[in-house]
Amino acid sequence: MTRRVERAVGAAKARVVAAELKLTTPLLASIDTIAYMRGAIVMDRPMDGALARLVKANNGAIIAASSKLTGGQRRFAIAHELGHHELHAGNDALDLCTGEDLQARDQSREGEANAFAVELLLPQKLVEPRCDVKEPSLKHACALADTFQVSFVAAALRFVELTPEACAIVVTEKGRVSWSIGNPDFGPTPARGMPVDSATLAHDIAAGRTAPDEPEEVRASAWLGSRARGELVEHSVAWGRMSSVTLLWRQSE
Ligand SMILES: [Zn+2]
Repeated sequence: MTRRVERAVGAAKARVVAAELKLTTPLLASIDTIAYMRGAIVMDRPMDGALARLVKANNGAIIAASSKLTGGQRRFAIAHELGHHELHAGNDALDLCTGEDLQARDQSREGEANAFAVELLLPQKLVEPRCDVKEPSLKHACALADTFQVSFVAAALRFVELTPEACAIVVTEKGRVSWSIGNPDFGPTPARGMPVDSATLAHDIAAGRTAPDEPEEVRASAWLGSRARGELVEHSVAWGRMSSVTLLWRQSE
């Protein structure tokens, strides 16, 4: 199996922070307390456009989190800003981060801050054994979200990143693919903007029908275009405004 090793700087820094604070699990202290112990005070504030921001002051910093955020999304946004605080000391005094920034998975500063947040809240050492499953499904992501108090989508992405199986996550909105991320074993993922094929469970959900809350086989071409051969296993659930979150699994032959 191959595993994504990019964004290593952010993840490595999170491991250093956890070791220095003797955090054997990320739930040993609240994210507000973790930030405080690293010199950043957390405040919840009404915000327009951004979800969180980091304001550096003298030797410390203030992390402002949008008062709209709760639960796992709030924890992730604060951990992301703590990532900027730890990783980008020499940069601007003001970091303003949007929902899009909190989704970045590339080598940019935003991607690094997210890699920091993911490793701090979902440490590889603790999460990876839970991703080594015979039959991938979104139920494993649900269990991770519960155990580690993160959002369902953050847990699903971490599952795909760490499972040895060939998997991808697809988020659809209004009957079209909004975004998708797979692990290297999965290969190309459904294209952004692609209409959701009527053969998929995600299509049933978008059409307001009840889809079984179980993985089912679907022809690969329904998700990956007419040239794709073979079958995939699909597990789709309705997910608020996004319409649906789908796990795709390519079973090894
Ligand atoms: Zn950011």
